Amino acid sequence: QNKLAIITAIQVSTQSENDDFVLEDVPHLTNFLPDLPSYPNPLNKRQAYSIVKKNFVSPEDVVAQNVVIQKESPRGVHFRRAGPREKVYFEPEKVRACIVTCGGLCPGINTVIREIVCGLNNMYGVQDILGIEGGYKGFYSKNTLMLTPKVVNDIHKRGGTFLRTSRGGHDTHKIVDNIQDRGINQVYIIGGDGTQRGASLIYEEMSMERSHSLIHLVLFYNHLFMKEVKKRGLKVAVAGIPKTIDNDIAVIDKSFGFDTAVEEAQRAINAAHVEVESVENGVGIVKLMGRYSGFIAMYATQASRDVDCCLIPESPFYLEGRGGLFEFIEQRLKENGHLVIVVAEGAGQEYVAAEGHASDKKDASGNKLLLDVGPWLSDKIKDHFTVFRKMAVNMKYIDPTYMIRAIPSNASDNIYCTLLAQGAVHGAMAGYTGFTIGPVNSKHAYIPIARVTERQKTVKLSDRMWARLLASTNQPDFVASEQES
Ligand code: ATP
Ligand code: MG
Repeated sequence: QNKLAIITAIQVSTQSENDDFVLEDVPHLTNFLPDLPSYPNPLNKRQAYSIVKKNFVSPEDVVAQNVVIQKESPRGVHFRRAGPREKVYFEPEKVRACIVTCGGLCPGINTVIREIVCGLNNMYGVQDILGIEGGYKGFYSKNTLMLTPKVVNDIHKRGGTFLRTSRGGHDTHKIVDNIQDRGINQVYIIGGDGTQRGASLIYEEMSMERSHSLIHLVLFYNHLFMKEVKKRGLKVAVAGIPKTIDNDIAVIDKSFGFDTAVEEAQRAINAAHVEVESVENGVGIVKLMGRYSGFIAMYATQASRDVDCCLIPESPFYLEGRGGLFEFIEQRLKENGHLVIVVAEGAGQEYVAAEGHASDKKDASGNKLLLDVGPWLSDKIKDHFTVFRKMAVNMKYIDPTYMIRAIPSNASDNIYCTLLAQGAVHGAMAGYTGFTIGPVNSKHAYIPIARVTERQKTVKLSDRMWARLLASTNQPDFVASEQES
């Protein structure tokens, strides 16, 4: 372990060259508060879980971000492997956990809530679990309820969030005061990028400040942990469970609810297809979620195969001229008599804005409100064909956003949510803090919160998946066409 720590220390200080072994580790409560006891994992005592005993994860196990092992030794970025530890940091009867959900809706939130509660209770015997209602504000507006396996038993069958949610209202000091006042020592935070940034602030406020040189020193000389500068020095584990229907969270393979969203999006695409097939010159437009990342649009297009053209934020497009969208639409109408376009909500924002629709409006969390590309695109196409091409088109516009967000998660997401929730519980019980949980190369790992908030995952136009989509739809790639003309 010491050897690993030293390697880690060196890597942290040199800021990760690709060729080195890098461990992006998550903090452990014993880092800040030395000489703390550890206890045997209660799973040991539970007959029904005797199998789990064999599956304890060694605290030294790491997960490689890049599966390709070069030369003879592991290289590249690694994260601490998730899973139950043989020794845990918390005594179950002294645990007071809380769960909060923030930001927009996404299929599967209720399954995560349910499985955190059941995981804490069934696996570790934790009885004291609070639900904070209505997002971060709920911490100081005193809206809480007691969560037991019985209370949450059926909630995974419903969409939305059992604990309700909100935007805005993150006041780190008030939240941490409240956590301290209530004697909470495990905080489970389910939410998107904004929520995870908030979680990071809560973790920083509770634990301690430390400089990079100090990390170096601390990891080099384990016994120096106690010299760290504490902010509040609370023995509280903060666990983030990343939620984003757009699948735009960095590092992790996929976010929960994404599969369900793609499946439901297919139904909207199918409806658009049925509509346009039944009329003359039918043009269907389906607007899907994806503020900055076009994953839902890309996967729904691939899954459905009824889509003629998929427009995403990462791939600029243009309407007029050779190789433009209008030309492509006309060609498909001539060939097939109808077509379906899928447009992600963040696509073409610059064109909508350029036409005087720009605004600086923001939501309560400070996120820029996007301009509505769906109706804009529908009007543009309608105008072009009826006014300029003297060709009547039958426009069918579908925006299934709220229908998709509101449904319960499908089978694969339900299983995935269970893994996330149980992984978060194992991590917090083991004493890790300031982490988010998620699969990295299909192995679940504990990832420092900051690592998942520093950037968003987007569709890489040079990746195979986008190339596969272009091959499947045979749509113009716009970039090449623009260069040619
Ligand atoms: P989604 O975008 O998927 O709907 P989100 O978590 O990004 O989810 P937001 O509305 O941006 O949704 O944020 C949710 C909560 O996190 C809000 O209560 C907001 O106040 C808080 N929050 C957002 N950004 C930050 C930040 N930079 N620092 C602290 N808190 C934040
Ligand atoms: Mg967000």
